[in-house]
Amino acid sequence: MLISFLAIFTTLVLLVVWLFQVVFLDSFYERSKMKELYLTASVIETNIQSDKLESTAYTMANDYSICVLVYKINGSVAKKHLSCDISSKCMLHHISTQSINKLYNKALNAGGEYTQKFALDAFRKDKTNNDSIYSTIYIKLIEDDVNNKYVIMLNAEMAPVNAIIKTYVAQFKWIGIIIFVIAIVASLIMSRKITAPIVKLNKSVKRLGKGDYNEIFDGKGYREIRELSDALNNASKELSKTDRLQKELLGNISHDLRTPLTMIRGYSEMMRDIPGENTPENMQVVIDETSRLSGLVDDLLDISKIQAGTRKATPERFPLTETIRNTLHRYDKLTEKDGYDIKFIYDEEVDIVADKAMMLQVIYNLINNAINYTGDNKKVIVRQNIYEGRVRISISDTGEGIPPEQLSAIWNRYYKVDKVHHRATVGTGIGLSIVKGLLELHGATYGVESTVGKGSTFWFELDSAQ
Ligand code: ADP
Repeated sequence: MLISFLAIFTTLVLLVVWLFQVVFLDSFYERSKMKELYLTASVIETNIQSDKLESTAYTMANDYSICVLVYKINGSVAKKHLSCDISSKCMLHHISTQSINKLYNKALNAGGEYTQKFALDAFRKDKTNNDSIYSTIYIKLIEDDVNNKYVIMLNAEMAPVNAIIKTYVAQFKWIGIIIFVIAIVASLIMSRKITAPIVKLNKSVKRLGKGDYNEIFDGKGYREIRELSDALNNASKELSKTDRLQKELLGNISHDLRTPLTMIRGYSEMMRDIPGENTPENMQVVIDETSRLSGLVDDLLDISKIQAGTRKATPERFPLTETIRNTLHRYDKLTEKDGYDIKFIYDEEVDIVADKAMMLQVIYNLINNAINYTGDNKKVIVRQNIYEGRVRISISDTGEGIPPEQLSAIWNRYYKVDKVHHRATVGTGIGLSIVKGLLELHGATYGVESTVGKGSTFWFELDSAQ
């Protein structure tokens, strides 16, 4: 592919060079020579009465290798007005007055301008070479402001372009061969440095697509290819992580589903088979386990909705402080029965504009985590701080804390610090990722500070309603 592309490219380049250097060289050369003659004639014409005529004409004659002869016509008498004889091969200064008269008449008949080409074979020493050297004579008849008539005669020698073209043609063979060799070498180098690594990367990507996450991309060659293979390595690492987490989730969910299901089945069978076991307490166990199951299913649905972007917030203004206070009342039972000490510290009542149900879910999740992970003193403190139009809710526990290196990971789906359930009710590692999703939906800032052995504080911040 690369080789054929380079072959076409080289052929095109050679073709362009051939056209310009060989085919059109003759006409290009002639045209540029003629332009020089026209230019010189028009400069002489404009300066015909000027003192600088001679010096200007000489400069141009020398620059362009042009001989100049200007006659002033007075009635039937022609007087030499200017002569620049800059080349020994100049025809103008070597032809007879008769020939000059002839040329003048031809110009007169042609309307004031005439060009004639002469072969200068007589000047050629090497008779075996049949490339003619040409000399071009250009004649222009002009009048000055006071109707004086002049004849400008210019003569330029045309180089033997054919001979040059022959040299080019001879060279061209070699140029062609050299360029083709360079193109082949370049395409080999390029294919080694670009094509081969890309083909290799392509194969690896296909294997990755089939689920082989151990694939290592080692694209060597240019920087871009190395960067691409680094990016692919990263992507493959991320994919394998997600894959692992997904598998872990399945494991976790099956485990979390199995426990309550076993309980429900056990209690139900017991109530069916053993007389007198059909008690309200046993029934309550079945009901509790069922709500745990539905809670788990709700969580899973939630996270999938948040991730799919189908869950949208419907913001409304509501009293945040009051809502938190009421929520905490629901934990009164827990406080009484298990001795939990849950405090709410706040200075003033504040409203916010947010989706109330979502905010409740965030608060519940964080308080439940704090209760689940707090230390033996069973203390949980909820704080509300207000500053610069923002309200910050922080929930602190006195538990064992979270190691700093795990702090960012706990917000990920399915992530659990020690993978061992502290309490039977502790969830699947989804709670915090739901919290994160909901808070981000509200544009809230959030975070966690934690000291191992002392406890953790989870917080989030929103604008307070004015
Ligand atoms: P889980 O249902 O497992 O609690 P979360 O997403 O709520 O899932 O939390 C993820 C992990 O973060 C938990 O498994 C736990 O290891 C850690 N974590 C969350 N809250 C706390 C806390 N207050 N103190 C210590 N660790 C916590």
